[in-house]
Amino acid sequence: MKAAVVAKNKTVEIKEKTLRPLKYGEALLKMECCGVCHTDLHVKNADFGDVSGVILGHEGIGVVTEIAEGVTSLKVGDRASVAWFFHGCGHCEYCNSGKETFCREVKNAGYTVDGGMAEECIVTADYAVKVPDGLDSAAASSITCAGVTTYKAIKVSGIKPGQWLAIYGLGGLGNLALQYAKNVFNAKVIAIDVNDKQLTLAKEMGADLTLNPKTDNVDEIIQKDLGGAHAAVVTAVAKSAFNSAVGSVRAAGRVVAVGLPVETMDLSIPRLVLDGIEVVGSLVGTREDLKEAFRFGAEGKVVPKVAMRPLEDINAIFEEMEQGKFTGRMVIDFKHKK
Ligand code: NAD
Ligand code: ZN
Ligand code: ZN
Repeated sequence: MKAAVVAKNKTVEIKEKTLRPLKYGEALLKMECCGVCHTDLHVKNADFGDVSGVILGHEGIGVVTEIAEGVTSLKVGDRASVAWFFHGCGHCEYCNSGKETFCREVKNAGYTVDGGMAEECIVTADYAVKVPDGLDSAAASSITCAGVTTYKAIKVSGIKPGQWLAIYGLGGLGNLALQYAKNVFNAKVIAIDVNDKQLTLAKEMGADLTLNPKTDNVDEIIQKDLGGAHAAVVTAVAKSAFNSAVGSVRAAGRVVAVGLPVETMDLSIPRLVLDGIEVVGSLVGTREDLKEAFRFGAEGKVVPKVAMRPLEDINAIFEEMEQGKFTGRMVIDFKHKK
């Protein structure tokens, strides 16, 4: 089978791979599609260490073609996800307290284990979340990381209906953050991006206010006109966005860090203490979060903006992503090959 494999030189190679036989509790998926996340770009650039040789992809959706002994949660013909949270130990304090994505023995698809950017993928059946009927596979792929990550981050933000949420970065994650914030959490949204194209899309999708740090003094406008945001979710891949988020929330506001620039943010201790600001990281979502996020997709409350591309385009997609050339998500299509 063909697979997108991380190479040594910060590129991805399309290689022929043969999968091993299934083990107890595993299922084989014939992949339908796999979204390209900015995290894949970090992974192939070795931002989090050299993982050359691994098959990329953690926004995968495939159809079950085979199940091993011990599998009861999936059957042949079901559609299921290949997510960043690929497998937890199942017995630690994190796994058993609703924080399974922080399991210290976690396996991450497309990073520490082979992922879903391939024609086939082996998953641990109990960790692959079933896709509900009524949600097409391309939309489900985008929700498998971008959707669940932002849905969870908004939960973590504690935002209430009618309150102001500042979303930094309106790319693959951000445009779904906006839709969950508006259509599920009923928040008022300030969309902040350095790329006007993303802001135009955000406006179309219902953003209440759009700001571009290149031309707007973001923190000042949010503080002066709105009294500060109640919370911020930062998906932007830039330290300046994290610093601005701390500046734009009101007293007792919460900044939820989601983006992964390999940098250190500035945090004024008096600001933190005297204004009771909270800064918290949020990592993808649990299997329950993903089930919920899928359900809102199936109900049509969240409609991912996707474009289907062939596997051979993967390096071109990364270049376009770095240059901010597209809006929404590029999704590798395994169903209709060139
Ligand atoms: P993307 O490239 O599609 O979108 C990033 C957006 O940020 C772009 O629209 C870009 O214009 C914008 N941006 C860049 N600099 C900015 C700035 N200074 N201010 C405002 N906006 C700015 O990327 P994506 O797929 O949405 O991923 C975003 C980040 O989230 C990546 O670092 C990725 O690794 C990370 N991520 C984290 C998790 C998690 O669980 N925490 C999950 C998935 C992705
Ligand atoms: Zn991702
Ligand atoms: Zn665990």
